[in-house]
Amino acid sequence: MAELEVVVGLEIHAQISTKTKMFCRCDNDSWDKVANVNVCPVCMGFPGQLPVLNEEALRKGIVAALALNCEIREVSKFDRKNYFYPDSPKGFQISQFDEPLSENGELEIGGKKIRITRLHLEDDAGKLTHVRDGSLVDFNRAGTPLMEIVSEPDIRSADEAEEYARVVQQILRYVGASEADMEKGMMRFDASVSIREKGSKTLNARGEIKNLNSFRALNKAIEAEVERQTVLWDAGNPQEEDFTIGWNDEKQEVYVMRSKEGSSDYRYFPEPDIPPVVLTKKEIEKLRSEIPELPAVRRERFVSEYKLSDGDARLLTVDRALADYYEKVVRICGDARLANSFVTTILMKHLKEELIDVGEQKVTAEMMGELLKLVVSGEISNNVAKGEVFEEMYESGKSAGEIVKKKGLKQISDTSELEAVCKKAIEANPQAVEDFKNGKDRAIGSIVGMVMKETKGQANPAKASEIVRKML
Ligand code: ZN
Ligand code: MN
Repeated sequence: MAELEVVVGLEIHAQISTKTKMFCRCDNDSWDKVANVNVCPVCMGFPGQLPVLNEEALRKGIVAALALNCEIREVSKFDRKNYFYPDSPKGFQISQFDEPLSENGELEIGGKKIRITRLHLEDDAGKLTHVRDGSLVDFNRAGTPLMEIVSEPDIRSADEAEEYARVVQQILRYVGASEADMEKGMMRFDASVSIREKGSKTLNARGEIKNLNSFRALNKAIEAEVERQTVLWDAGNPQEEDFTIGWNDEKQEVYVMRSKEGSSDYRYFPEPDIPPVVLTKKEIEKLRSEIPELPAVRRERFVSEYKLSDGDARLLTVDRALADYYEKVVRICGDARLANSFVTTILMKHLKEELIDVGEQKVTAEMMGELLKLVVSGEISNNVAKGEVFEEMYESGKSAGEIVKKKGLKQISDTSELEAVCKKAIEANPQAVEDFKNGKDRAIGSIVGMVMKETKGQANPAKASEIVRKML
């Protein structure tokens, strides 16, 4: 039997981070709010109300589109997408149909290009909660600004889809266009999945899996849909029409919802209340110039400039605030490798344990930089810095200098003081002394180790080793 190939295209809906909604002045922050407080006649679609486009949403949409290498149209317009469902108070969604904000983008994922068809703007619907006796509706989210990012069917596996979605999330966060917090429903996916014989160019009938709200769900749902279609294919009965597919997260199963609606089902027509968006080349170029260094470029620079491994560079550039933090620490202490070791190991261990961001804890980049300066100058040892000093900084928010002074943790580099401890350590380790004299250079390690233990890690290990050698 011929080998099969998976074909996936992704639609990503991401909420644009703005103060107010897309076409009215309602508060856009509805997280943890009582239902139906952020509403007004405009987002509720009352007759005679005039929507006004949110300029911040437009600006952030353009920046996101540019960061995804899209071309911005100098003229774009809004359209009504008509549908009747209780989550839509207006009876239509304001979206962009045939003249979207931007088109023809691309992203590189592991050396491969995924083409991006378009990024357009639209508003979100309300939220339905199904209860035993019916459904409850909350319109706080109705009218929230969204960008929809549509890819070409260039993705070839569930893992690749996940990787692409993660990279998009990272870019949207870097440019500040969306917080893209999946837990808060700020980013959701629809995945169009089909299969074909490997090497074929045909696009077969697809299953469009709706409303996936985690990377894991995205990955698992694609796998399950491929499996569903493969069973039909192998039975000689391949799927022949497009279907809308649901994902049951509890059962980890896909199910067929309905045959897919085509765009003609929505009776799109130009939105009469919103004038077309007209942009000059100059305005577009100005926004382009404001785009920060993007994660992939920054990662490569970290490798070449700071001599980091690709893995460490990847860790540090996952989030822009963390990458900024790292670079600030390097500027203060002057040692890129030391900064890398402190940030990627001890600091990130805490961040991971507590599921917080770098900005949500007490050790600022300035404080970390000062701590590492003490290590670079030899005032405290690496071990003391990593252990006691950092831990107390993290707990109390006190500066490294203050803790070192209060606890008397200064590294002992004073020769006479060290000599006394070294002498004791040599006397207590006759076997190691013997081994060293018989040419086992490494035996010196256990003597220095004892010196470190005796001084609670405060001895300068290089100096101690030097003294022990001399004494032997
Ligand atoms: Zn409103
Ligand atoms: Mn949409």
